[in-house]
Amino acid sequence: MSDQDGHQKSAGETSFRTRAIHVGNEIDPATGAVVPPIHLASTFRQPGAGEWGQFDYSRSGNPTRSNLQSTLASLESGVGALAFSSGMAAIHCVTMLLETGDHVVAGCDLYGGAYRLLHKICNRSGIDVTLVDMTDADAVAAAVNDRTKLIWAETIGNPRLTIPDLPALAAIAKQRGVIIGVDNTFGTPALVRPLEHGIDIVMHSATKYLGGHSDCLGGTLAVADQELLDRLYFIQNATGAVLDPLSCFLVSRGLKTLDLRIREQSRTALALAQWLEQHPKVRLVLYPGLESHPQHGLAAETLLGGFGAMVTFELDAGIEETAAVCESTELFHLAVSLGAVESLIEQPATMSHASYDAADRARFGITDGLIRLSVGLESFEDLRQDLARAIDAASQRDA
Ligand SMILES: *Cc1c(COP(=O)(O)O)cnc(C)c1O
Repeated sequence: MSDQDGHQKSAGETSFRTRAIHVGNEIDPATGAVVPPIHLASTFRQPGAGEWGQFDYSRSGNPTRSNLQSTLASLESGVGALAFSSGMAAIHCVTMLLETGDHVVAGCDLYGGAYRLLHKICNRSGIDVTLVDMTDADAVAAAVNDRTKLIWAETIGNPRLTIPDLPALAAIAKQRGVIIGVDNTFGTPALVRPLEHGIDIVMHSATKYLGGHSDCLGGTLAVADQELLDRLYFIQNATGAVLDPLSCFLVSRGLKTLDLRIREQSRTALALAQWLEQHPKVRLVLYPGLESHPQHGLAAETLLGGFGAMVTFELDAGIEETAAVCESTELFHLAVSLGAVESLIEQPATMSHASYDAADRARFGITDGLIRLSVGLESFEDLRQDLARAIDAASQRDA
């Protein structure tokens, strides 16, 4: 049996959309409320000294956070999930599995904050990093050495929207006894569930599609193995970067419409990418749904029901004219972040990827003419006209 998005499911199991609404959102037994109450309590009365109830202190566990974690574990096909105060806190928790002398192999098409964490914080503990092209499984295998303890990739890379072969990477990790984690922020569990491909840890910035409305920060991890979950929970509880109850509620609410949002946003993104590809001022469009994308075939196998709502393109222009386009749109807000109902535009070289060293930006194709779009839920035609006007206005200003 498969649900409307084409993912396999076993008999008796409800589909992704149904679970997004019902799992972790059980009726409140005290009142019958169809939306569970938000539990703001920081501490919980215990049955006796040294006897513990289900909850004791909200850093260690909170009912509103547990609800969100149940929903997420179900959506990611995991045994459990953890909710953090931000996406970076979630990645940091993963890196705290490592010790001095350990080595990380990470993708070269990597979120700027993950690059900074690995190169400017983890290095202080004597952990070193090799960046490789995650679309080249042989290069990944070659980069793994005897000290490698973690492979870190993104299901859709950032900002060049590269697509790795998840089962191939999982096989390398398994063979070498290395943990493999992927950042699925751009992919979302509606389009790809990495744990089903043999990945050990799937991470999200819940700030983006899971929340979906640009109104809260959050991060999540989900895993398929109980022992790994216990190790990550120990680190989270010991270091304290948990998600607060109000933000947990907002992410839980966002998850109920995730499937609908990402599918519709992906549809608009594909139409915009096709239009941009024909535009005379556009040198290159990077969108996994275009046949011109280097991993289009793999993307069609990996991402089910849509190619995501991020579009990156390169203008035939220098840094200033590119900046002028980003500053000239009205509907697309000039801002970092992504994944919400409102569309955003940004220049990776000066914004999301400014924390890369200049040499690495050049090496990994983060050129001055690159523009990254996060396509929201506005109508295609309004977004197209907004972009068309901005590109024309900037080239006239430049002429
Ligand atoms: C935003 C983002 C992060 C970091 O998440 P925060 O919630 O901002 O800490 C990590 N990875 C990707 C791909 C992101 O877009």
